[in-house]
Amino acid sequence: MSDILIRISGQAGHITLQRPDALNAMTYDMCRAIEAAIDDWRTDPAVALIIFDAEGERAFCAGGDIAELYATGTMGDFGYGQTFWADEYRLNHKLFHYPKPVVSFLQGFTMGGGVGIGCHGSHRIVGDTSQIAMPECGIGLVPDVGGSLMLALAPGRLGEYLGTTAARMNAADAIYAGFADHYLPETAWDALKQALQTSGDATLIEAAALPPAPSPLAALQPDIDRHFHGAALGDVLTTLRTEDSDFARATLKAMGRTCPLSMACTIEMLHRLRGPSLSLEKALDLEYRFTARSMEHGDFLEGIRAAVIDKDRSPKWQYSDMNVPATAISKMLMPLGKDALKLEESGMKIGFIGLGNMGAPMAANLAAAGHNVTGFDVAGTTADGVAVAATAQDAAAGQDIVITMLPNGAILRDVADQIIPSMASGATLIDCSTVDVESARAVAAQANDAGLQAVDAPVSGGIGGAAGGTLTFMAGGSDAAFEVAKPLFDIMGQKAVHCGAAGAGQAAKICNNMILGATMIATCEAFALADKLGLARDKMFDVASTSSGYSWSMNAYCPAPGVGPTSPADNDYKPGFAAELMLKDLGLSQQAAEAVDADTPMGARALELYRQFVEDEDGKGRDFSAMLPRFETRGRG
Ligand code: NAD
Repeated sequence: MSDILIRISGQAGHITLQRPDALNAMTYDMCRAIEAAIDDWRTDPAVALIIFDAEGERAFCAGGDIAELYATGTMGDFGYGQTFWADEYRLNHKLFHYPKPVVSFLQGFTMGGGVGIGCHGSHRIVGDTSQIAMPECGIGLVPDVGGSLMLALAPGRLGEYLGTTAARMNAADAIYAGFADHYLPETAWDALKQALQTSGDATLIEAAALPPAPSPLAALQPDIDRHFHGAALGDVLTTLRTEDSDFARATLKAMGRTCPLSMACTIEMLHRLRGPSLSLEKALDLEYRFTARSMEHGDFLEGIRAAVIDKDRSPKWQYSDMNVPATAISKMLMPLGKDALKLEESGMKIGFIGLGNMGAPMAANLAAAGHNVTGFDVAGTTADGVAVAATAQDAAAGQDIVITMLPNGAILRDVADQIIPSMASGATLIDCSTVDVESARAVAAQANDAGLQAVDAPVSGGIGGAAGGTLTFMAGGSDAAFEVAKPLFDIMGQKAVHCGAAGAGQAAKICNNMILGATMIATCEAFALADKLGLARDKMFDVASTSSGYSWSMNAYCPAPGVGPTSPADNDYKPGFAAELMLKDLGLSQQAAEAVDADTPMGARALELYRQFVEDEDGKGRDFSAMLPRFETRGRG
């Protein structure tokens, strides 16, 4: 193919992009050709390392070739783009994990798709003309090709800044931000390539590299962190607009050119990615959720029209920058189910016991991600894509992993007695139910004694998080057991924290839910008081959700019907998270507090109120936020 030259030069597999007139933009065929070559070279003893370079002085690779994407997308064919991106991301993933050194020489522009080829290798070399950027927000996409991983890992809030402004990095900046490794003047590149081909020795690079000049971007870090630490796009823009400085003006100007939905999703993606479960796989999966939807539901086609086709540079974005609804962000970043990005063909065998409000959608997400899931529930419930077993033992036998999602510790112990003897030696038992610390530790010990690994991993995020794959897992168990469970947490959730040894996950969960119980009560009683003071509920929400009354109960799960995001209050308080489950969790935290002599007066009072609500009033079977109608009808007496 004339657009790309692939050959073995000495001991190097050598790939040269040669479309200099198109700034070496990557076509689908180039992507496939690179993948085929690196697959061949993976085990070829004649190839010690891979060199990527490009013809022409202006660019290593200025991005993906978007003309074909536009042509197919405007005809309503979204499948071409989805296949293009999925195949491109698979290549990016292979380069990142390649078992031999991958050396790239990045002159001129390296942007978007160019970053995916040039910046995942082990030795990324930049020179005086290098300009690296992730400009996708400018055309209605989000930073992709694994670039969101580098943005999430960049110092402070640099990732948000680079992703939303499309700012260009020079050599020193790129090294500072983690997109490149070594600076070497471009006049010295040919000699280095020659030496690499002759020797096959990548350590020559470090010896040849020179220290880069100071990074201008590093000098901006305090400004960037000050303005980009906010929870959402609106927060970032608000702080920029309230400051009269060159930095704020230049940044707002750059953000004025990029797509609001893309910027808002970029910020959300980086927040989700940062944390202990950060991985390239997770970054690519999240990016693909957006790109796969970008033509049909995003602004991608309009972005290309304005930038490349009509070149009028006045795109009509769907939303203005301060008005990107949270629902639009969630819609773009929701799991794709059976259409999720598949990087490798390897499903695990998973047993899932307890297919209730939480368990059913969690099991369905695992199945949709390509795992072979067999479920069981005494109530006979099922889940999408999940095979049904006749008994818990049958669901657990011969599986790599068994997950339980059950009502309480007594039932967990009972189920553990049934399944542990039938589980395959070396398999892992993950309990995601909320149970007492003692039961969690007892079941883990029982599993360990039977030659199994165990993790207690209760969740936060409710049924919305279970369905959307955005749960937070708090895990207890050994490092090895956590590592086995982590890829599954990444599918079912957006964050997994390894809290410590067996029982530590449950300890974190009950402390978290003690906060939740108390804040829900406080939120409900504040609404009831506001009613009696004649304050409209939507005004109360507007103020509290953006002031110090902010909390998950207020902002994400507002207990007042018709106000704030859709929540169980809008569904006649059907759970959701049932009041009796909250009562259970508060009981667990008080039980634990007594055991270790901790003073928890708010937790104790919350327990009492939920007990009264569930046992003496009409709370049983209602959502835990139904405390609001309870308070509404009461006076002080
Ligand atoms: P649920 O009652 O809807 O589901 C539990 C399921 O377990 C039911 O379908 C039940 O039939 C099944 N079950 C009971 N005994 C069984 C047995 N012996 N064998 C097999 N299946 C059995 O409850 P849920 O809302 O899905 O909650 C499950 C767990 O997750 C609880 O521990 C809860 O505290 C916790 N949790 C719930 C939420 C929430 O918002 N619902 C949030 C975080 C944590």
